[in-house]
This record gives sequence, structure tokens and C-alpha cells, in this order.
Amino acid sequence: PVETLNDLEKLTVLGRGTGGTVYKTRHRRTKTLYALKLLRSNDLNATAVETDILKRIESSFIVKCYAVFVNSSYLCYVMELMEKGSLHEALLARQGFPEPVISSLAYRVLQGLRYLQEMRIVHGDIKPSNLLINEKGEVKIADFGASRIVAGGDDYGSSGTCAYMSPERVDPEKWGFGKVGFAGDVWSLGVVVLECYLGRYPLTKPGDKPDWAALICAICCNEEVEIPASCSPEFRDFVGKCLEKDWRKRVTVEELLLHSFVINRL
Ligand code: ATP
Ligand code: MG
Repeated sequence: PVETLNDLEKLTVLGRGTGGTVYKTRHRRTKTLYALKLLRSNDLNATAVETDILKRIESSFIVKCYAVFVNSSYLCYVMELMEKGSLHEALLARQGFPEPVISSLAYRVLQGLRYLQEMRIVHGDIKPSNLLINEKGEVKIADFGASRIVAGGDDYGSSGTCAYMSPERVDPEKWGFGKVGFAGDVWSLGVVVLECYLGRYPLTKPGDKPDWAALICAICCNEEVEIPASCSPEFRDFVGKCLEKDWRKRVTVEELLLHSFVINRL
């Protein structure tokens, strides 16, 4: 139904990211609400294929993208509105989530990742600000491929933070290149799930300065990630398997969907 940008009336700003701004908008005729993301892009030609993929994606675990426009030097994504914002904001408002909440979140993200894998898509940027929550409290994956679109190549790790990146992406020479890269999304999910439990970014110590080198060391060199003693054995096992540094030994999305931590969710 959205044919041009003029069909939409801007209401408020929902958020700002590294590359752009997201607005809450309303379709002038149908009154339907949409989120509109405007992304400054210096390589608009590289986007045609990605745009097609984006529009083909049809899953209740992934934020729907209805249309993509190119407007002067901006890429404009018309998306499903996720009323409750991102997991990043939800985490700022709390001290962490109880395990049943994390379990259903993990289940939904895994379903989304399985769908993307069937489409041969590596998300590449799973992190709290890219997991959005709707009115019903359901979590969906957003922003997949967006960073690749922006960079216009396969160096899609260059934009944004490396905090959620897997060892093989941070330091491919040491860990060996991930063949397809699906394992990287599993690592990121592990970081997110642990962050949900702790209520803070888990790979560095609470007092640590947000120092780039320390972060890279925490991802690639530190022996093992500390998982708090208070959690259930299922949770510990789930996170431990996601945060396996060697991507060849890391658990797969299919395996995680059968893990007791998600199977036994409420
Ligand atoms: P980055 O630029 O690294 O991806 P980011 O994920 O914070 O950072 P955006 O993806 O541009 O940046 O989104 C900015 C914020 O806008 C999100 O974190 C979220 O709060 C909000 N937002 C994005 N898409 C939607 C949507 N479809 N519905 C509701 N809010 C959204
Ligand atoms: Mg984002």
C-alpha cells in the first residue's frame, strides 16, 4: 500500500542509530502506522539485490519490511512498527530478565535465524538494539543485511560496534574464517542472552572502561566467559555452547532449537 514516501506522515522519532533515524509514521489514506528508517548511504547502487531479499522475507520472527525507497542520498525502509522499541531500551530500564522471559526471547530469535538461514542470509548484526518488541511483547529480528547494504561489500563488520561479534569475525586469522558465517549469529545470540540475564554487557567487567582493545581481548583471548552461579544448569549450558570460541565446534541454530533451555520454556 505504501507507494511513495509522500503516502506517509511523520509523527515522532523512535530512535537514532549510527547511520540514520527511525520515525513513527502514519499512512495518510489507510491510517496504518509504520516505522520509517532513513539511512544515509553512499552506495545506493549496491542495494537492489538486498532490497529484493528484504521484501521477500516473510516471518513472524522478523520485522517486516514493506517497501524500500531511494530518496536523494537516503535509503528509506518502510517497516512494521514495533511499539515497545528495542531490547536495548528494555535492558536499560531493568536489572536483567528472569529466565523464562529470556528463554522465550531466545526461542523467537532462533526461529528467526533458522528462517534467515533457509534463505541463506547471515544476519551479521544480532544485538539488543536490533531485536525489537511489539505491543504483544513479542521479540523480532530487525536490521538484518542493513549494515551490509550500507557498506556495500562483505566487510559488513566495519559499521557499528564489535561488542557482539564472534571471535572468527574479530580475528579471522587466529580463528579461521567462518565458512558461511551462521555461527557468528549464534555467538551474538549467546552474548545477548547473557546480557539479558545480567542486565549489563557481559564480556567485560562492570567497572572496565569501554576500551576497544580490552573488548577484543575479552572476545578472542580470555579463557572463558563467566556465567553467574545463580542461573539454572540449562541456561549455563545454552550460553556456554553459544559462546564456544571455535566456530567449528559451536552449536548450530538447529541444535539450539532442541536445547532444554528453549524446549522447556513456559
Ligand atoms: P545501528 O545503527 O548500529 O543499527 P541501532 O540498531 O540503534 O544502531 P537503528 O537500527 O537505526 O539503529 O534503529 C534505531 C532505533 O530505532 C532502534 O534501536 C529502535 O529503538 C528504533 N527502531 C528501529 N526500527 C524500529 C521499528 N521497526 N519499530 C520501532 N522502533 C524501531
Ligand atoms: Mg539497528
